[in-house]
Amino acid sequence: MTKSYVIKPELGKEYPVISHGKGIYLYDKEGNRYIDGSSGAVTASIGHGVEEVAEAMYAQAKEVSFVYRSHFSSDAVEKLATKLAEWAPGSLNWTFFVSSGSEATETAQKIAIQYWQEKGRPTKNRIISRWMSYHGITMGALSMSGHVLRRKRFTPLLADYPAITGPYPYRKPEDMSLESYALACANELETAILRVGPEQVAAFIAEPVIGASGGAVVPPDGYFQRIREICDKYEVLFIADEVMTGVGRTGKAFGVNHWGVVPDLMTLGKGMSAGYTPMAATIVSDEIIETITKGSGSIMAGHTYSANPQSAAVSLAVLDYVEKHQLVEKAAEQGAYLLARLKELADELPLIGDARGLGMLCALEFVKNKQTKEPFALSQGVGGKVIQKAFEKGLLIYPAMGGIEGVAGDAVIISPPLTITTEQIDELIALLKEAVIAVQQELQDKALIG
Ligand code: PMP
Repeated sequence: MTKSYVIKPELGKEYPVISHGKGIYLYDKEGNRYIDGSSGAVTASIGHGVEEVAEAMYAQAKEVSFVYRSHFSSDAVEKLATKLAEWAPGSLNWTFFVSSGSEATETAQKIAIQYWQEKGRPTKNRIISRWMSYHGITMGALSMSGHVLRRKRFTPLLADYPAITGPYPYRKPEDMSLESYALACANELETAILRVGPEQVAAFIAEPVIGASGGAVVPPDGYFQRIREICDKYEVLFIADEVMTGVGRTGKAFGVNHWGVVPDLMTLGKGMSAGYTPMAATIVSDEIIETITKGSGSIMAGHTYSANPQSAAVSLAVLDYVEKHQLVEKAAEQGAYLLARLKELADELPLIGDARGLGMLCALEFVKNKQTKEPFALSQGVGGKVIQKAFEKGLLIYPAMGGIEGVAGDAVIISPPLTITTEQIDELIALLKEAVIAVQQELQDKALIG
């Protein structure tokens, strides 16, 4: 191999070079095949190599790829925003386009703060987030993320944003019903708002289902309904970070739809363009846009590639594909099958403490002791070992092990393209099982588990 000058995640390591992808499979130049079982950070939701998307990309590139948003709009951007307004719940009708999930959450942060400024309440400028959350890698987004591993190096972060505990049903106190646990967790928001002072809090941000920092952690019913009530009571905006859960991943168009809750701002990324181009968005309510229109009249955000027609055309083709092939409904059906198969694995293998998920966003959590749920220390990186073994066997899964140190164990996310068939899920499960058994054996040999 010729010398590489690309800065890769692990310096000094050689990475296979991918030649092409089709459906749920990726192929490297050596001829190895991989099942894309995590859609690379839960992104490739319609599978690889979809002709319609390639055609839309070419058609737009022939017309015009880039126009600067300060001067022009484009058909592609207008149509995409209209479609998103149709998809999004309530009065979430206005989209600000960006290129990554981190930009989308930072934009939401800025719009929330600006909204209160325009209302003459400039002290409302702090965002409450949750421990065990991930909202992006840029400094602003990290400052409102509870991903311990990713925050560590950069502490102190930009802002001393408060964080509360998110619901983690697998580790709820045993003597508490799920219903009271949901309320207790949500009520932590009220306590935090009162501690900080409602006049200092602009917004609360949460992932409907926790992704990268916990692994498909689904909140109990009642949690987000109570969160909405608290936000309304103290005039705090609710930002739903749907970067991972949005566009059908959980079996509904958006994660919050499972609980009938309408946020004030919503962020999208990943599945919005399914990996075909960088594309992300911040969608906001009529009320926010009306307030800013009456006030300064302009949102203080934006990047060079915001609202470029090329990415919009691709995203539009992806959303059309999702609609045409009823992938939201498929995610619910096939996701239920995937979860059932994962639960079988959890019943069988002592290393797996929990199998959980919603729609096609699923995860396994590994524990030292299944009875006591004792987690592995994060430094043991058991999830990482399973990911490596699965990789060697031709299966890609995604790490979720940045949660609260000493509480969260190692988890891996399994969330293949929404197009996956039942037979392909069986194929995925067979490889996953081999990988877990191999790591379990290794840990048993070293007497690290019972
Ligand atoms: N929010 C959530 C919920 C995410 O899962 C991610 C990415 N894992 C981000 C934000 C950041 O997105 P990006 O990596 O595209 O910046």
